[in-house]
Amino acid sequence: MRQAVVLGASIAGLLSARVLSEAYDRVLIVERDEIAGVAPRRGVPQARHLHGLMERGRQIIEELYPGLTADLAGQGAPTTEVLQESRWYLSGLRVRPTSTGLTTLLAGRPLLESAIRERTLASPGVELRTRRAAAGLIGGERITGVRLSDGTELGAELVVDATGRGSRAPEWLAGLGHARPQEERIDVDLGYSSRTYRRKPEHLDGDLAVVVSTTPGFRGGGAITLEGDRWHVTLAGMLGDHPPSDPAAFEAFAATLPVPDVYDIVREAEPLDDPVPHRFRGSLRRRYDKISRPPRGFLVIGDAVSSFNPLYAQGMTVAAQQALALRECLPHPDPVRFYRATAAVIDVAWQMSTGSDLRYPGVAGPRTPRSRIVGAYAARARVAAHRDPVVARTLMRTTNLTIPPASLLTPDIVWRVLARGGQ
Ligand SMILES: Cc1cc2nc3c(=O)[nH]c(=O)nc-3n(C[C@H](O)[C@H](O)[C@H](O)COP(=O)(O)OP(=O)(O)OC[C@H]3O[C@@H](n4cnc5c(N)ncnc54)[C@H](O)[C@@H]3O)c2cc1C
Repeated sequence: MRQAVVLGASIAGLLSARVLSEAYDRVLIVERDEIAGVAPRRGVPQARHLHGLMERGRQIIEELYPGLTADLAGQGAPTTEVLQESRWYLSGLRVRPTSTGLTTLLAGRPLLESAIRERTLASPGVELRTRRAAAGLIGGERITGVRLSDGTELGAELVVDATGRGSRAPEWLAGLGHARPQEERIDVDLGYSSRTYRRKPEHLDGDLAVVVSTTPGFRGGGAITLEGDRWHVTLAGMLGDHPPSDPAAFEAFAATLPVPDVYDIVREAEPLDDPVPHRFRGSLRRRYDKISRPPRGFLVIGDAVSSFNPLYAQGMTVAAQQALALRECLPHPDPVRFYRATAAVIDVAWQMSTGSDLRYPGVAGPRTPRSRIVGAYAARARVAAHRDPVVARTLMRTTNLTIPPASLLTPDIVWRVLARGGQ
Protein backbone atom coordinates (compact mmCIF):
# COMPACT_ATOMS: atom_id res chain seq x y z
CA MET A 1 0.00 0.00 0.00
CA ARG A 2 1.40 3.40 -0.96
CA GLN A 3 1.14 5.91 1.88
CA ALA A 4 1.92 9.63 1.85
CA VAL A 5 1.98 11.89 4.92
CA VAL A 6 1.25 15.61 4.65
CA LEU A 7 2.29 17.87 7.54
CA GLY A 8 -0.10 20.78 8.09
CA ALA A 9 -3.80 21.05 7.21
CA SER A 10 -3.92 24.61 5.96
CA ILE A 11 -4.29 25.59 2.30
CA ALA A 12 -1.01 24.13 0.98
CA GLY A 13 -1.39 20.88 2.95
CA LEU A 14 -5.00 20.33 1.93
CA LEU A 15 -4.38 21.00 -1.75
CA SER A 16 -1.36 18.67 -1.65
CA ALA A 17 -3.39 15.91 -0.01
CA ARG A 18 -6.14 16.28 -2.61
CA VAL A 19 -3.60 15.92 -5.42
CA LEU A 20 -1.73 13.02 -3.77
CA SER A 21 -4.98 11.08 -3.35
CA GLU A 22 -4.84 10.52 -7.11
CA ALA A 23 -1.69 8.38 -6.78
CA TYR A 24 -1.43 7.12 -3.17
CA ASP A 25 -3.73 4.58 -1.50
CA ARG A 26 -3.64 6.48 1.76
CA VAL A 27 -2.84 10.13 2.50
CA LEU A 28 -2.54 11.04 6.19
CA ILE A 29 -2.66 14.73 7.06
CA VAL A 30 -1.02 15.51 10.41
CA GLU A 31 -2.11 18.81 11.97
CA ARG A 32 -0.98 20.37 15.25
CA ASP A 33 -4.21 22.29 15.88
CA GLU A 34 -7.59 21.12 17.00
CA ILE A 35 -9.87 21.88 14.07
CA ALA A 36 -13.48 22.69 14.70
CA GLY A 37 -15.74 24.14 12.02
CA VAL A 38 -15.36 27.55 10.45
CA ALA A 39 -13.19 29.50 12.86
CA PRO A 40 -9.72 31.04 13.00
CA ARG A 41 -7.29 28.79 14.85
CA ARG A 42 -3.94 29.12 16.57
CA GLY A 43 -1.77 27.69 13.78
CA VAL A 44 -3.20 30.09 11.17
CA PRO A 45 -3.30 33.48 12.94
CA GLN A 46 -3.34 35.24 9.56
CA ALA A 47 -6.91 33.98 9.03
CA ARG A 48 -8.11 36.92 11.14
CA HIS A 49 -6.89 39.27 8.41
CA LEU A 50 -8.16 40.10 4.99
CA HIS A 51 -7.41 37.30 2.49
CA GLY A 52 -7.95 37.96 -1.21
CA LEU A 53 -7.89 34.92 -3.46
CA MET A 54 -6.31 35.73 -6.81
CA GLU A 55 -8.13 34.47 -9.88
CA ARG A 56 -5.40 31.95 -10.81
CA GLY A 57 -5.74 30.41 -7.36
CA ARG A 58 -9.50 30.28 -7.62
CA GLN A 59 -9.27 28.63 -11.03
CA ILE A 60 -6.94 25.91 -9.71
CA ILE A 61 -9.08 25.33 -6.62
CA GLU A 62 -12.12 25.08 -8.90
CA GLU A 63 -10.29 22.55 -11.07
CA LEU A 64 -9.44 20.42 -8.02
CA TYR A 65 -12.87 20.84 -6.38
CA PRO A 66 -15.41 21.51 -9.13
CA GLY A 67 -18.32 23.65 -7.97
CA LEU A 68 -16.58 25.06 -4.90
CA THR A 69 -17.08 28.71 -5.94
CA ALA A 70 -20.81 28.16 -6.41
CA ASP A 71 -21.05 26.26 -3.11
CA LEU A 72 -19.42 29.13 -1.25
CA ALA A 73 -21.67 31.61 -3.02
CA GLY A 74 -24.57 29.47 -1.76
CA GLN A 75 -23.20 29.94 1.76
CA GLY A 76 -23.35 33.71 1.37
CA ALA A 77 -19.85 34.46 0.04
CA PRO A 78 -20.35 37.06 -2.72
CA THR A 79 -18.68 36.68 -6.09
CA THR A 80 -18.16 39.56 -8.45
CA GLU A 81 -15.93 40.72 -11.29
CA VAL A 82 -12.61 42.10 -10.07
CA LEU A 83 -13.25 45.68 -11.19
CA GLN A 84 -17.05 45.62 -10.94
CA GLU A 85 -18.59 46.41 -7.53
CA SER A 86 -15.00 46.59 -6.29
CA ARG A 87 -12.77 49.62 -6.04
CA TRP A 88 -9.03 49.35 -6.49
CA TYR A 89 -6.86 52.33 -5.67
CA LEU A 90 -3.21 52.13 -6.73
CA SER A 91 -0.93 55.07 -5.94
CA GLY A 92 -4.03 56.87 -4.68
CA LEU A 93 -5.82 56.65 -8.06
CA ARG A 94 -8.80 54.44 -8.78
CA VAL A 95 -8.14 51.71 -11.34
CA ARG A 96 -10.62 52.32 -14.12
CA PRO A 97 -13.67 50.05 -13.75
CA THR A 98 -13.81 47.74 -16.74
CA SER A 99 -14.60 44.17 -17.58
CA THR A 100 -11.64 41.87 -16.86
CA GLY A 101 -13.05 38.34 -17.08
CA LEU A 102 -11.66 37.79 -13.55
CA THR A 103 -13.83 36.60 -10.69
CA THR A 104 -13.40 37.75 -7.11
CA LEU A 105 -14.64 35.27 -4.53
CA LEU A 106 -15.25 37.17 -1.30
CA ALA A 107 -15.14 34.32 1.21
CA GLY A 108 -13.55 34.69 4.62
CA ARG A 109 -10.34 32.72 4.98
CA PRO A 110 -11.77 30.28 7.62
CA LEU A 111 -14.75 29.52 5.36
CA LEU A 112 -12.54 28.93 2.31
CA GLU A 113 -10.22 26.65 4.28
CA SER A 114 -13.08 24.67 5.78
CA ALA A 115 -14.71 24.17 2.35
CA ILE A 116 -11.41 22.94 0.91
CA ARG A 117 -10.88 20.71 3.95
CA GLU A 118 -14.31 19.16 3.71
CA ARG A 119 -13.80 18.27 0.05
CA THR A 120 -10.24 17.07 0.56
CA LEU A 121 -11.37 14.69 3.29
CA ALA A 122 -13.97 13.33 0.88
CA SER A 123 -11.16 12.34 -1.55
CA PRO A 124 -10.33 8.62 -1.57
CA GLY A 125 -7.92 7.50 1.16
CA VAL A 126 -7.43 10.93 2.78
CA GLU A 127 -7.45 11.07 6.60
CA LEU A 128 -6.86 13.97 8.99
CA ARG A 129 -5.17 13.52 12.37
CA THR A 130 -5.44 16.65 14.47
CA ARG A 131 -3.61 17.68 17.67
CA ARG A 132 -0.47 15.91 16.48
CA ALA A 133 2.73 17.82 15.78
CA ALA A 134 5.50 16.68 13.48
CA ALA A 135 8.84 16.81 15.30
CA GLY A 136 11.33 15.34 12.83
CA LEU A 137 12.00 13.20 9.80
CA ILE A 138 13.04 9.55 9.72
CA GLY A 139 15.43 8.10 7.17
CA GLY A 140 18.85 8.61 5.72
CA GLU A 141 19.60 9.10 2.02
CA ARG A 142 15.88 8.74 1.52
CA ILE A 143 13.19 10.01 3.90
CA THR A 144 10.98 7.14 5.00
CA GLY A 145 8.64 8.77 7.49
CA VAL A 146 8.03 11.33 10.16
CA ARG A 147 8.33 11.42 13.95
CA LEU A 148 5.61 13.13 15.95
CA SER A 149 6.12 15.04 19.18
CA ASP A 150 4.45 12.23 21.18
CA GLY A 151 7.13 9.84 19.91
CA THR A 152 4.88 8.05 17.38
CA GLU A 153 6.47 7.28 14.04
CA LEU A 154 4.57 7.26 10.76
CA GLY A 155 6.15 5.49 7.80
CA ALA A 156 5.55 6.97 4.35
CA GLU A 157 6.76 6.66 0.81
CA LEU A 158 6.43 10.44 0.60
CA VAL A 159 6.37 13.14 3.30
CA VAL A 160 5.20 16.63 2.29
CA ASP A 161 5.96 19.52 4.63
CA ALA A 162 3.20 22.16 4.50
CA THR A 163 3.74 23.53 8.01
CA GLY A 164 4.02 27.13 6.84
CA ARG A 165 6.64 29.80 7.34
CA GLY A 166 7.71 28.37 10.71
CA SER A 167 8.68 25.05 9.06
CA ARG A 168 11.50 23.20 10.87
CA ALA A 169 12.43 21.21 7.77
CA PRO A 170 15.83 22.93 7.33
CA GLU A 171 16.86 21.80 10.85
CA TRP A 172 15.35 18.33 10.38
CA LEU A 173 17.27 17.86 7.13
CA ALA A 174 20.53 19.13 8.64
CA GLY A 175 20.06 16.69 11.52
CA LEU A 176 20.05 13.83 9.00
CA GLY A 177 23.17 15.14 7.24
CA HIS A 178 21.37 16.78 4.31
CA ALA A 179 21.99 20.29 3.01
CA ARG A 180 19.87 23.15 4.36
CA PRO A 181 18.29 25.50 1.84
CA GLN A 182 19.75 28.99 1.53
CA GLU A 183 17.33 31.73 2.57
CA GLU A 184 16.47 34.95 0.78
CA ARG A 185 14.70 37.71 2.67
CA ILE A 186 13.29 41.12 1.88
CA ASP A 187 12.33 42.78 5.16
CA VAL A 188 9.38 45.18 5.05
CA ASP A 189 8.35 45.42 8.74
CA LEU A 190 4.67 45.38 7.81
CA GLY A 191 1.88 45.70 10.36
CA TYR A 192 -1.77 44.71 9.94
CA SER A 193 -4.75 45.44 12.14
CA SER A 194 -8.18 43.98 11.30
CA ARG A 195 -11.71 44.26 12.51
CA THR A 196 -15.13 43.11 11.31
CA TYR A 197 -18.28 45.25 11.04
CA ARG A 198 -21.93 44.74 10.23
CA ARG A 199 -22.55 45.58 6.58
CA LYS A 200 -25.50 47.59 5.39
CA PRO A 201 -26.42 47.67 1.69
CA GLU A 202 -25.92 51.44 1.50
CA HIS A 203 -22.27 51.27 2.59
CA LEU A 204 -19.84 52.06 -0.22
CA ASP A 205 -22.88 52.76 -2.44
CA GLY A 206 -23.54 49.03 -2.60
CA ASP A 207 -20.04 48.07 -3.76
CA LEU A 208 -18.60 44.90 -2.23
CA ALA A 209 -14.90 45.62 -1.83
CA VAL A 210 -12.27 48.32 -1.74
CA VAL A 211 -8.50 47.90 -1.84
CA VAL A 212 -6.13 50.81 -1.19
CA SER A 213 -2.44 50.23 -1.92
CA THR A 214 0.24 51.42 0.49
CA THR A 215 1.46 53.93 -2.07
CA PRO A 216 1.90 56.87 -1.91
CA GLY A 217 3.28 56.78 1.62
CA PHE A 218 3.32 53.70 3.83
CA ARG A 219 -0.33 53.21 4.70
CA GLY A 220 -3.02 51.22 2.95
CA GLY A 221 -5.90 48.91 3.67
CA GLY A 222 -8.98 47.25 2.39
CA ALA A 223 -12.51 46.25 3.18
CA ILE A 224 -14.26 43.26 1.69
CA THR A 225 -17.74 41.92 2.14
CA LEU A 226 -17.80 38.56 3.88
CA GLU A 227 -20.47 35.89 4.18
CA GLY A 228 -22.94 36.84 6.88
CA ASP A 229 -23.30 40.48 5.76
CA ARG A 230 -20.06 41.59 7.37
CA TRP A 231 -17.20 43.83 6.39
CA HIS A 232 -13.69 42.58 6.99
CA VAL A 233 -11.51 45.66 7.31
CA THR A 234 -7.72 45.42 7.36
CA LEU A 235 -5.43 48.41 7.81
CA ALA A 236 -1.77 48.06 6.87
CA GLY A 237 1.44 50.00 7.32
CA MET A 238 4.89 49.41 5.88
CA LEU A 239 8.32 49.91 7.44
CA GLY A 240 7.20 50.20 11.04
CA ASP A 241 4.27 52.56 10.42
CA HIS A 242 1.88 50.00 11.91
CA PRO A 243 -1.87 50.45 12.41
CA PRO A 244 -2.92 50.35 16.07
CA SER A 245 -5.35 47.91 17.65
CA ASP A 246 -6.96 50.38 20.03
CA PRO A 247 -10.43 51.05 18.49
CA ALA A 248 -10.23 54.86 18.49
CA ALA A 249 -6.68 54.88 17.13
CA PHE A 250 -7.72 52.27 14.51
CA GLU A 251 -10.37 54.67 13.25
CA ALA A 252 -7.92 57.57 13.28
CA PHE A 253 -5.40 55.55 11.25
CA ALA A 254 -8.13 54.67 8.69
CA ALA A 255 -8.76 58.41 8.26
CA THR A 256 -5.17 58.90 7.09
CA LEU A 257 -5.38 56.57 4.04
CA PRO A 258 -4.97 58.33 0.68
CA VAL A 259 -8.71 57.87 -0.12
CA PRO A 260 -11.69 57.94 2.29
CA ASP A 261 -13.55 54.75 1.25
CA VAL A 262 -12.25 52.45 4.02
CA TYR A 263 -12.60 55.17 6.62
CA ASP A 264 -16.23 55.74 5.59
CA ILE A 265 -17.01 52.11 6.47
CA VAL A 266 -15.05 52.24 9.74
CA ARG A 267 -16.83 55.44 10.71
CA GLU A 268 -20.35 54.38 9.79
CA ALA A 269 -20.60 50.63 10.38
CA GLU A 270 -21.22 48.85 13.68
CA PRO A 271 -18.09 47.01 14.86
CA LEU A 272 -18.53 43.32 15.68
CA ASP A 273 -15.22 42.76 17.48
CA ASP A 274 -12.01 44.50 18.53
CA PRO A 275 -9.11 45.12 16.14
CA VAL A 276 -6.55 42.28 16.00
CA PRO A 277 -2.89 43.06 15.12
CA HIS A 278 -0.42 41.03 13.06
CA ARG A 279 3.21 41.71 12.31
CA PHE A 280 4.97 40.46 9.19
CA ARG A 281 8.73 41.01 9.08
CA GLY A 282 9.37 40.28 5.46
CA SER A 283 9.19 37.98 2.48
CA LEU A 284 11.17 34.78 2.90
CA ARG A 285 12.19 32.24 0.30
CA ARG A 286 13.94 28.94 1.04
CA ARG A 287 15.88 27.78 -1.99
CA TYR A 288 15.22 24.02 -1.97
CA ASP A 289 15.52 24.32 -5.75
CA LYS A 290 19.21 25.15 -5.33
CA ILE A 291 20.09 22.03 -3.32
CA SER A 292 21.85 19.77 -5.79
CA ARG A 293 20.77 16.45 -4.23
CA PRO A 294 17.61 16.93 -2.12
CA PRO A 295 16.59 13.69 -0.38
CA ARG A 296 14.01 11.55 -2.12
CA GLY A 297 10.74 10.91 -0.33
CA PHE A 298 10.41 14.46 0.99
CA LEU A 299 9.00 17.69 -0.47
CA VAL A 300 8.32 21.14 0.96
CA ILE A 301 5.42 23.26 -0.28
CA GLY A 302 3.53 26.50 0.37
CA ASP A 303 4.66 29.15 2.85
CA ALA A 304 7.30 26.72 4.14
CA VAL A 305 9.14 27.45 0.86
CA SER A 306 8.04 30.99 0.03
CA SER A 307 6.21 33.42 2.26
CA PHE A 308 5.26 36.63 0.45
CA ASN A 309 4.40 40.12 1.62
CA PRO A 310 0.64 39.61 2.18
CA LEU A 311 -0.19 43.01 0.66
CA TYR A 312 -0.04 41.34 -2.75
CA ALA A 313 -2.33 38.43 -1.79
CA GLN A 314 -0.26 35.79 -3.56
CA GLY A 315 0.33 33.06 -0.95
CA MET A 316 -2.74 30.86 -1.47
CA THR A 317 -2.46 31.10 -5.25
CA VAL A 318 1.22 30.19 -5.28
CA ALA A 319 0.41 27.24 -2.97
CA ALA A 320 -2.25 26.16 -5.49
CA GLN A 321 0.21 26.50 -8.37
CA GLN A 322 2.68 24.34 -6.45
CA ALA A 323 -0.01 21.73 -5.84
CA LEU A 324 -0.58 21.56 -9.61
CA ALA A 325 3.16 21.13 -10.12
CA LEU A 326 3.07 18.27 -7.59
CA ARG A 327 0.28 16.66 -9.54
CA GLU A 328 2.39 16.80 -12.69
CA CYS A 329 5.21 14.97 -10.87
CA LEU A 330 3.00 12.00 -9.93
CA PRO A 331 3.01 9.05 -9.55
CA HIS A 332 6.61 9.09 -8.20
CA PRO A 333 7.49 12.72 -7.41
CA ASP A 334 11.15 13.44 -7.95
CA PRO A 335 12.31 16.34 -5.72
CA VAL A 336 14.61 17.92 -8.32
CA ARG A 337 11.83 18.01 -10.88
CA PHE A 338 9.30 19.23 -8.31
CA TYR A 339 11.50 22.07 -7.04
CA ARG A 340 12.42 23.12 -10.57
CA ALA A 341 8.74 23.37 -11.53
CA THR A 342 7.73 25.17 -8.34
CA ALA A 343 10.69 27.58 -8.54
CA ALA A 344 9.33 28.76 -11.88
CA VAL A 345 5.97 29.75 -10.39
CA ILE A 346 7.52 31.18 -7.21
CA ASP A 347 9.93 33.29 -9.32
CA VAL A 348 7.06 35.16 -10.97
CA ALA A 349 5.27 36.03 -7.73
CA TRP A 350 8.55 36.73 -5.89
CA GLN A 351 9.76 39.18 -8.52
CA MET A 352 6.40 40.94 -8.58
CA SER A 353 6.11 41.32 -4.82
CA THR A 354 9.72 42.02 -3.90
CA GLY A 355 10.02 44.31 -6.95
CA SER A 356 7.12 46.34 -5.57
CA ASP A 357 8.64 46.40 -2.08
CA LEU A 358 11.98 47.61 -3.39
CA ARG A 359 10.25 50.81 -4.56
CA TYR A 360 10.60 51.91 -0.95
CA PRO A 361 14.07 53.34 -0.38
CA GLY A 362 13.85 52.03 3.21
CA VAL A 363 13.56 48.39 2.05
CA ALA A 364 17.00 46.77 1.82
CA GLY A 365 17.63 44.47 -1.12
CA PRO A 366 19.38 44.07 -4.45
CA ARG A 367 18.59 46.85 -6.93
CA THR A 368 19.89 46.82 -10.48
CA PRO A 369 19.53 49.35 -13.31
CA ARG A 370 17.00 46.94 -14.86
CA SER A 371 14.93 46.69 -11.66
CA ARG A 372 14.86 50.51 -11.42
CA ILE A 373 13.55 50.81 -14.99
CA VAL A 374 10.94 48.08 -14.34
CA GLY A 375 9.92 49.90 -11.12
CA ALA A 376 9.51 53.23 -12.92
CA TYR A 377 7.50 51.55 -15.70
CA ALA A 378 5.26 49.77 -13.16
CA ALA A 379 4.58 53.11 -11.42
CA ARG A 380 3.57 54.61 -14.78
CA ALA A 381 1.39 51.58 -15.55
CA ARG A 382 -0.51 52.11 -12.28
CA VAL A 383 -1.30 55.69 -13.29
CA ALA A 384 -2.24 54.63 -16.83
CA ALA A 385 -4.59 51.98 -15.38
CA HIS A 386 -6.56 54.84 -13.86
CA ARG A 387 -7.20 56.26 -17.34
CA ASP A 388 -7.02 53.39 -19.79
CA PRO A 389 -9.28 50.31 -19.55
CA VAL A 390 -6.92 48.15 -21.61
CA VAL A 391 -4.03 48.84 -19.24
CA ALA A 392 -6.39 48.38 -16.26
CA ARG A 393 -7.49 44.95 -17.52
CA THR A 394 -3.96 43.79 -18.31
CA LEU A 395 -2.61 45.01 -14.98
CA MET A 396 -5.37 43.23 -13.05
CA ARG A 397 -4.78 40.01 -14.98
CA THR A 398 -1.05 40.02 -14.27
CA THR A 399 -1.73 40.83 -10.59
CA ASN A 400 -4.16 37.92 -10.49
CA LEU A 401 -1.44 35.68 -11.95
CA THR A 402 -3.58 34.58 -14.91
CA ILE A 403 -1.17 36.02 -17.48
CA PRO A 404 2.60 36.60 -17.20
CA PRO A 405 3.97 40.01 -16.18
CA ALA A 406 5.55 40.28 -19.66
CA SER A 407 2.01 40.89 -20.96
CA LEU A 408 2.52 44.47 -19.78
CA LEU A 409 5.36 44.81 -22.25
CA THR A 410 3.58 44.29 -25.57
CA PRO A 411 4.01 47.26 -27.96
CA ASP A 412 0.36 48.30 -27.58
CA ILE A 413 0.49 48.32 -23.76
CA VAL A 414 3.89 50.04 -23.67
CA TRP A 415 2.52 52.78 -25.90
CA ARG A 416 -0.55 53.21 -23.70
CA VAL A 417 1.53 53.26 -20.50
CA LEU A 418 3.95 55.82 -21.89
CA ALA A 419 1.18 57.99 -23.35
CA ARG A 420 -1.24 57.86 -20.41
CA GLY A 421 0.92 57.16 -17.36
CA GLY A 422 2.14 60.70 -16.66
CA GLN A 423 1.22 62.22 -13.30
C1 LIG B 1 -1.32 38.63 7.55
C2 LIG B 1 -1.38 37.74 6.34
C3 LIG B 1 -2.29 37.99 5.33
C4 LIG B 1 -2.33 37.19 4.20
N1 LIG B 1 -3.17 37.51 3.18
C5 LIG B 1 -3.21 36.73 2.08
C6 LIG B 1 -4.07 37.06 1.00
O1 LIG B 1 -4.75 38.08 1.00
N2 LIG B 1 -4.11 36.20 -0.06
C7 LIG B 1 -3.32 35.09 -0.12
O2 LIG B 1 -3.39 34.35 -1.12
N3 LIG B 1 -2.48 34.78 0.87
C8 LIG B 1 -2.40 35.56 1.96
N4 LIG B 1 -1.55 35.23 2.97
C9 LIG B 1 -0.74 34.01 2.86
C10 LIG B 1 -1.58 32.77 3.15
O3 LIG B 1 -2.15 32.86 4.45
C11 LIG B 1 -0.73 31.50 3.01
O4 LIG B 1 0.03 31.58 1.84
C12 LIG B 1 -1.60 30.27 2.96
O5 LIG B 1 -2.21 30.05 4.19
C13 LIG B 1 -0.80 29.00 2.61
O6 LIG B 1 0.04 28.74 3.65
P1 LIG B 1 0.44 27.27 4.08
O7 LIG B 1 -0.70 26.35 3.96
O8 LIG B 1 1.69 26.93 3.38
O9 LIG B 1 0.83 27.50 5.62
P2 LIG B 1 -0.04 28.03 6.82
O10 LIG B 1 -1.30 28.62 6.37
O11 LIG B 1 0.86 28.85 7.67
O12 LIG B 1 -0.43 26.70 7.62
C14 LIG B 1 0.51 25.86 8.24
C15 LIG B 1 -0.26 24.73 8.91
O13 LIG B 1 0.67 23.80 9.48
C16 LIG B 1 0.30 23.52 10.85
N5 LIG B 1 1.53 23.17 11.54
C17 LIG B 1 2.57 23.99 11.86
N6 LIG B 1 3.55 23.28 12.44
C18 LIG B 1 3.13 21.99 12.49
C19 LIG B 1 3.74 20.78 12.96
N7 LIG B 1 4.97 20.76 13.52
N8 LIG B 1 3.04 19.63 12.83
C20 LIG B 1 1.78 19.62 12.27
N9 LIG B 1 1.17 20.75 11.82
C21 LIG B 1 1.85 21.91 11.92
C22 LIG B 1 -0.37 24.81 11.31
O14 LIG B 1 -1.20 24.59 12.43
C23 LIG B 1 -1.16 25.19 10.06
O15 LIG B 1 -2.37 24.51 9.99
C24 LIG B 1 -1.45 36.06 4.10
C25 LIG B 1 -0.54 35.80 5.11
C26 LIG B 1 -0.47 36.64 6.21
C27 LIG B 1 0.56 36.37 7.27
